[in-house]
Amino acid sequence: MVMINKENYKIVLDKAQAAQANLVAVSKTKPVEAIEELYDLGQRIFGENKVQELVEKQAKLPQDIDWHLIGTLQRNKVKYIAPFVSMIHSVDSLKLLKEINKQAAKSNRTIHCLLQFHIAQESTKFGLSIEEAVALLTSPEYQAMQHIDIVGVMGMATFTNNEEQVRQEFRTLKGHFETLKGQFFANKASFKVVSMGMSGDYAIALEEGSTLIRVGSLLFGARVYH
Ligand SMILES: *Cc1c(COP(=O)(O)O)cnc(C)c1O
Repeated sequence: MVMINKENYKIVLDKAQAAQANLVAVSKTKPVEAIEELYDLGQRIFGENKVQELVEKQAKLPQDIDWHLIGTLQRNKVKYIAPFVSMIHSVDSLKLLKEINKQAAKSNRTIHCLLQFHIAQESTKFGLSIEEAVALLTSPEYQAMQHIDIVGVMGMATFTNNEEQVRQEFRTLKGHFETLKGQFFANKASFKVVSMGMSGDYAIALEEGSTLIRVGSLLFGARVYH
């Protein structure tokens, strides 16, 4: 049974590759069979936004998948994903980062993290301001952490048909990336990820310098929440 949209996958992948960006296939709410179909086409990076769903799928699917956590993460759930998660896109506080560091240490791993910024006008989309990010990166607690690697930034644009607004928000995020790169990561080649762009706005995001797009419904079809 074909559960994915192969044509869209090819279009999105071609556009990402042309821009030298990577693709996170956002599989939240979708069954493991759909993920397997995309896996068989070569896709290896998948994103989920719920810890329990991520843990269940990870156990059932091939071990060479790179799992990305893209949603709000509660501190008390970090321990369930720390043994295997490859990237956490949603770091929005020093407290959360401390817990990730602690749990990564227990698994003897280093976890790649992105700082999530608030770039949308909607108040529901959480994230840091640039001042908060600077405070976090300047703190002695952060500087002592041995088991996390901050590799870039992430943000979600406002859900709107106003392309110019979306473009401006992506520019703001790219600007935050450049600011932090210059101030804190100038000598760190691993700080290179700008995670922005979803099904509705990934093409704009790629034009504005995204290196990692997170696309779900275009590949897997619309999500149905029960
Ligand atoms: C669900 C989700 C996506 C993918 O959304 P689509 O519009 O289905 O492509 C991307 N990023 C985050 C943070 C999400 O929660």
